Amino acid sequence: MLNFTYEQLPVRVVFGAGSFDKLAEELERLGLKRAMVLSTPGQRRLAEEAQKRLGVATAGIHAEAVMHVPVETARAGRETARRLAADCLVAIGGGSTIGLAKAVALDTGLPIIAVPTTYSGSEMTPIYGLTDSGVKRTGRDRKVLPRVVIYDPALTVGLPAKVSGPSGMNALAHCVEALYGQDANPVTTLMAIEGIRALGRALPVVVKEPLNLEARSSALYGAWLAGFALGNAAMGIHHKLCHVLGGAFNLPHAELHTVILPHAAAYNRQAASEAMRVIAGSLGAGDAAQGLYDLAKRIGAPLSLKELGMPEDGIERAAKLATENPYYNPRPVEYAGVKQLIENAWHGRRPG
Ligand code: NAD
Repeated sequence: MLNFTYEQLPVRVVFGAGSFDKLAEELERLGLKRAMVLSTPGQRRLAEEAQKRLGVATAGIHAEAVMHVPVETARAGRETARRLAADCLVAIGGGSTIGLAKAVALDTGLPIIAVPTTYSGSEMTPIYGLTDSGVKRTGRDRKVLPRVVIYDPALTVGLPAKVSGPSGMNALAHCVEALYGQDANPVTTLMAIEGIRALGRALPVVVKEPLNLEARSSALYGAWLAGFALGNAAMGIHHKLCHVLGGAFNLPHAELHTVILPHAAAYNRQAASEAMRVIAGSLGAGDAAQGLYDLAKRIGAPLSLKELGMPEDGIERAAKLATENPYYNPRPVEYAGVKQLIENAWHGRRPG
């Protein structure tokens, strides 16, 4: 019998090839006049393109986003926003850039307009993360939820295949866990199923033909649905493990999600059997865990923690850390099972 609570997050989404050109129009709709444009140093040129489109409605560029939002980077971002007297933040890039905008918004309350160029999904969530002395803490706050998200697949064609594949698997992970999360509801379930279907079909084409705008569009559509799912449903063992392993061993975010996902699905195989049936069906596979593993392999993504540089003698410590604070997961999170999961992921074994 149905029993759920659902709260709609207020994000305006503008989707389509060429929608980057609507940036100025979107700011105008909100009455905003002095945007600080954020990017990574590597995407400065794109930030300049944004500035061109904004014309007079820009206060300046802050191209200093780096992975995992160190507190020092967040502080520098806030100071620049104050110095420029910015009235909003235009974040153009992946999860790292959007993460920096969120850290600035958390303190200043400035509205965010996000233009994502990867499949991380961060643009659709009120979740922020900050890293202090190597420890990442995350939280939820409506202040950091972007007001507008402009999805332009044309901006993603330059994302290299080896970044696109794992980034897409990161999005898939949001969809997978939304299906068995504690507060799963019919709306996120629909979005998650459609997200898995879109990403499962698009990613193999995206990595083979990075310039294929049709496939890029489907992948970005899937990433939007995935971000929606992440923003609306609590996550389980997969996200917890990625958080723990990423922090403890400094492993690359999207690749880590790619490696763990099939094993997290295998861990929950019996306890979330209906979700697994739906995931397998959406991927056109016989089994969810194996379907996810085979997809990662097909797109040439890393399959083992060993490849990502995690030391083998870290497995026990990781299992201990992951089981320290109990949290919801369809199958109870217990040490022996989690250790086995990490061990399988370390070797890159196909889930049995
Ligand atoms: P990223 O933002 O670090 O980007 C990776 C690299 O790719 C960067 O150097 C970037 O400049 C470059 N890049 C981005 N788009 C490009 C493009 N179209 N063409 C060429 N180069 C491009 O990577 P990511 O995986 O998008 O984000 C990871 C971060 O996002 C992690 O810190 C993670 O914790 C966070 N995240 C947060 C949430 C949330 O809801 N808060 C959700 C998912 C991820």
